[in-house]
Order: sequence, then structure tokens, then C-alpha cells
Amino acid sequence: MTISKDEIKDYILDMRSRRCSFKDAVIRILKENGITQAPIPVIEIAKSFGFELYTVTFKDNQIAGVMADSSKNVKPFNCKRVIAINANDYATRKNFTIAHEIAHFVLHCNQKENFYERYKHDLDRGQRGDIENEANRFAAELLMPEHLVLEFLDNTPTQNEYELLERMAYKFIVSKKAAKRRLEEVGYYEKMKECKA
Ligand SMILES: [Zn+2]
Repeated sequence: MTISKDEIKDYILDMRSRRCSFKDAVIRILKENGITQAPIPVIEIAKSFGFELYTVTFKDNQIAGVMADSSKNVKPFNCKRVIAINANDYATRKNFTIAHEIAHFVLHCNQKENFYERYKHDLDRGQRGDIENEANRFAAELLMPEHLVLEFLDNTPTQNEYELLERMAYKFIVSKKAAKRRLEEVGYYEKMKECKA
């Protein structure tokens, strides 16, 4: 049984069917959208996927965002594919929320079922399910693609970690906490240890 949903670009269907790595998926998204540098324009990417975006004051301020990919119009929005983000959040948090919802669209949405989520701030990593953790990891990869992080490190001579994280947060429009976690993922601290040894 199929349900009628708004159109999806072929390359997204291709990524969904091949289940490529997060790194490869991000490289593909950047290439398809002609993006070569940070900050990554997540709003433009979401729009290119057919999303309508709204900034909303939620009754529950713990909600970071709401996302739907549906066969019917979603209330109170008059569209089928929507991301609504919390108007009270910082720019870095808004960016991460949009990237998180993009991740669900690539990784967890499909043509047969409707997808709806309310994404909350207050859970820590241990409390989240696999799907949420996956979306967060993909979001970090999308906002801070490995090749752009390595390029940034090459071009940023800096003596202390605080300054490096400040610059990275500014460049990629992410929190310093997210930047630090990403530096761990790309092996930056391991390399630093090797250099000192
Ligand atoms: Zn989620």
C-alpha cells in the first residue's frame, strides 16, 4: 500500500535505499545543494527537501522542534512536510534542531508511513532512543562535515582549546559543546596527544 506524499528528490530515495554512511550522505547532500563551505545553510537544505519552516512559541518551552512528513496537511500548519522550531532558542540550538529533523527525513522517513515527532531539549544522551541518537549524530556530521572541520583546523593556528572552540562555534554556528564533541569524533584530541608525545 502506498500513500500519497509530497515529492522526494531521487538522490534522497537513493540514499535511503542504499543506507550509506552518515559521512557519505552528508557529502552527497552538500554536493547536490552546491555547498562548499561553513556555515551549512540548513534552512536552505530543508527547503530543498520540500519542508516549510516555521518559528513558533510553543506552550511547552522544552520542545526544541516539531517535524512532520505526512500524506495529509498537518495542523496547525497548512502543509504536509513541516519543521517548526522554538522561537526562544539560541541560533546554534535552532540550527541543530533543523539539522536533527533533516537527519530524520534522510534516515527514518519513508514513502509508506507518516512521520511525526516532538523533539525535546531536556533528555540527555542516555535517555534517548536509538533513532534520536542517530539523528543527533547525523546532525553533528551535517553541521560540521569532517572535511570542512579538518580544513578549518588546518587554517586556524591557535594555541588554546578555548579559543579554538570559540572560533569553531562561530564558523559552523554550533554550540561549543557540540564543537568539542565533533573534534573528539574526528580524532583531533588523539592527534594532539601524539604531537605532544
Ligand atoms: Zn528526533
